[in-house]
Amino acid sequence: MPESLPVLMYHGLHAGKAMRGRYDPVYSVDPSSFARQLDWMANRDYRSIGLAGLDAGEWPARSILISFDDGDASNLEMAVPMLRERGFTAVFFITSAFLGQPGMLRPDEVPALLAAGMEVGSHGASHRYLADLDAASLAAELADSRARLESLTGTAVAALALPGGRGGMREREAALAHGYRWLFGSVPGPNRSTQPGRWLQRLAIRRNLDLMDFAALVEWRGPLPRLAAARHRLLGLGKRLLGNARYERLRTHLAR
Ligand SMILES: [Zn+2]
Repeated sequence: MPESLPVLMYHGLHAGKAMRGRYDPVYSVDPSSFARQLDWMANRDYRSIGLAGLDAGEWPARSILISFDDGDASNLEMAVPMLRERGFTAVFFITSAFLGQPGMLRPDEVPALLAAGMEVGSHGASHRYLADLDAASLAAELADSRARLESLTGTAVAALALPGGRGGMREREAALAHGYRWLFGSVPGPNRSTQPGRWLQRLAIRRNLDLMDFAALVEWRGPLPRLAAARHRLLGLGKRLLGNARYERLRTHLAR
């Protein structure tokens, strides 16, 4: 029985709107907060494991998996040097059609992530929510993103993070059929059981999370984990009631 495994989900690192990348008022984490979070983990002897560590099937206590979604330009410029300084690695889930767009990684920066000791996974081709797609479009999202990332990196891409965290049984079956082995959702939790082909839980690290709350999430103790789980269920309800597109507009509006 492997130890539980916290999986952190970051997006971009931006102090403010002026920094390179796509600033998001909810998900852009200030680089100084990121540094404090990494230092907190390093001081407590947390070690990051990657997909290879998952493949091995067991890991020591105080293992952690750090992940980034979307492929923001700050991933390579800001996050990688800060991770490397402290001996951490991360998995970067990249939306393949975002590559080269303003504020996002350029295609040639994807192999640079691997050269820096990081790993790459798919976050869809267009970032459309897989649960909203018909079977053909779903297959295309899974296949196209994987093919693009594999051609850029020259290595197999075996991990997928759900865009928007939306997906269930059908998306899981499709992902496995397309050769993905490690599947990451965004249901918050400590991953007490971890198996290939099951949705891994992830802890969304938001801009407003202070270090105490970060620690509570990582250690999955105190009231915050329950609040995070309740918040996720509530957001899921909002998405079902409003539909994904209207929900996103509301979220953007509320975050202003
Ligand atoms: Zn995303």
